[in-house]
Amino acid sequence: MSPVTAFIDLHCHPPVKAYLEGPFAPYLDHVAAIFRRPVQMMEPEELADLYRSLDGRAVLLGWDAGTATGLPPFTSSQVAELVAVAPDVFVGFGGIDPHRADAVDQVDIAADAGMLGLKFHPSVQRFDPADPRYLDIFARAVAHGLVCLFHTGYTALGSGMPGGAGVETEYANPMRLDSLAARVPELSIIAAHPSWPWQDEAIATARHKPSVWLELSGWSPRRFPPALVEAVTGELLHRSLFGSDFPFITPQKWIGDWEQLDIAPEATRRILHDNAAELLGLADDRGDPDAGG
Ligand SMILES: [Zn+2]
Repeated sequence: MSPVTAFIDLHCHPPVKAYLEGPFAPYLDHVAAIFRRPVQMMEPEELADLYRSLDGRAVLLGWDAGTATGLPPFTSSQVAELVAVAPDVFVGFGGIDPHRADAVDQVDIAADAGMLGLKFHPSVQRFDPADPRYLDIFARAVAHGLVCLFHTGYTALGSGMPGGAGVETEYANPMRLDSLAARVPELSIIAAHPSWPWQDEAIATARHKPSVWLELSGWSPRRFPPALVEAVTGELLHRSLFGSDFPFITPQKWIGDWEQLDIAPEATRRILHDNAAELLGLADDRGDPDAGG
């Protein structure tokens, strides 16, 4: 076995030129300071080689906050091009701008491009996911069997910039996902990141709504509040997912810090791999006979 258990990283921002110099361009200097590491641009093949060398797979996230930010998107077809470089390693989620008049069509386009899910960032995009005017988008996601991943809690994007670069954090309160889950019960919802300052709200939402999953990217596990560790290794063990938030945190760093927490290996395997494989319907083709059990 490799140094780390095989994993599926639910949260990888592709650090390719069109992404870093597109929708992330204005934020990068501040974000690099917050994570205390420079953001390194990579070629798609390099990114694939990194994950392959770690026995991992990556969910590459598209991005479209064009209406709120005026910045260019990283489209589903751009994500699909990356997936095509290394389909053994990459899967894709499409970024949907909910304000676009053709947002529902964009869901169709994402599905046609082979995306397995959709990514939303309510505080950067400035929208309330539970607002009835967006429910058609999520109904279409259900029709295509696409899971929806939402940023929750504080974000490094815009942090320290004047007016937080227009980001309104309150939209990323996980209680909005509780309401969405009540209104669209068939939708699989991923609440991304420890949801500070609403960690209890995220745990309560996942406990109350069986369609809500907690994804753990963006923070070192050494800084997780004890209640979160207890929840994801206990009651919510089957709805907890690993994500790194690459390139801001590497999977090696996250998993290395997780291993300091002394979690049972079966629970680690569930969180790093099995839950995501089940949620996304990814057959384990990495040659591990224990997978999927
Ligand atoms: Zn992220």
